[in-house]
Amino acid sequence: MTRLLISRPMTDAVRDRARAEFDTEIRDSNAPMTKEEMVTGLREFDVIMPSLGDAFSQEVFASAGETRCKLLANFGVGYNHIDVDAARDAGVAVTNTPGAVTDATADIAMTLLLMSARRAAEGERLVRSGKWEGWHPTQMLGLHVTGKHVGIVGLGRIGEAISRRCHFGFGMDVSYLARSDKDPGFPVRRSESAASLAEGVDFLVVAVPGGDETRHLIDSKVLAAMKPTAHLINVARGEVVDEEALIAALEAGAIGGAGLDVYEFEPRVPERLRRLDNVTLLPHLGTAAEEVRSAMGHMALDNVAAHAAGRNLPNAV
Ligand code: NAP
Repeated sequence: MTRLLISRPMTDAVRDRARAEFDTEIRDSNAPMTKEEMVTGLREFDVIMPSLGDAFSQEVFASAGETRCKLLANFGVGYNHIDVDAARDAGVAVTNTPGAVTDATADIAMTLLLMSARRAAEGERLVRSGKWEGWHPTQMLGLHVTGKHVGIVGLGRIGEAISRRCHFGFGMDVSYLARSDKDPGFPVRRSESAASLAEGVDFLVVAVPGGDETRHLIDSKVLAAMKPTAHLINVARGEVVDEEALIAALEAGAIGGAGLDVYEFEPRVPERLRRLDNVTLLPHLGTAAEEVRSAMGHMALDNVAAHAAGRNLPNAV
């Protein structure tokens, strides 16, 4: 029977299926795996189901030497914590969970977009503080959302789902940045660079994968190109945005605001960021719904099952 190590506690449905189908061990900690745990896991299990923060680096594979493990069935679509080249060199395949996360993550992008534009977090803090003095015509004026122009950095599965919500739900114009032309079935405009996309839009929404290629794609120059009223939304990976430059822009009031689900040095969120009222901060909630987390787990287990049966991996990366 396939020996499976799952690196975090799972939903009941995923845990029960894993135990029924495989010889499964589940870590009872939500902390990222230590180097020792990853090395031992690679040596002692056939498959590991890692997740965000489990840094399977070149060094980990080198330390493990000959691995019993032949598959990292990642729980999540983003796999920038795994060195895929080093895994391949070690004879370890990698799979992820695309699609299962798309709508939920797009919904969180819209949550942040609306909250940031309409100052919802700030307003909620005001009510909770007991200092709200009542409605008046010029109280807490935010940015009207309907009919604005959104720029999406990465028009892939999640980016397209965000664009549909913006186009059909809020009557927005949609521009985007990607490596190839996209046609979601309604008019969209492709930009040449992040800076040229940034300068024309009211909302800049980040939905590209993390990793070396996209690190600091949103830097001080891109932030400087944004309109002073525009909002930056990031549901991708923290490292795509230069967090220091973003804090400087928010402190200076150079942009209208920001809505963040992810952070450059997650879970550390700088005190300077937490002090600001013009930023909405969520604790990486993109896929945080029971049915979505179960769907992700089942997709990861489908890959484990395919591996165990010697079939093609449905979601190889
Ligand atoms: P996807 O379908 O692969 O889409 C990625 C998009 O980014 C594609 O349009 C791609 O363009 C574009 N892209 C990639 N590299 C680029 C570059 N260097 N410059 C410009 N565009 C680039 O991925 P997805 O399923 O939408 O997921 C996107 C990311 O969201 C994941 O990798 C993950 O990190 C993050 N995520 C976050 C959460 C959360 O909880 N907040 C949840 C799920 C996912 P081409 O198609 O032209 O290559």
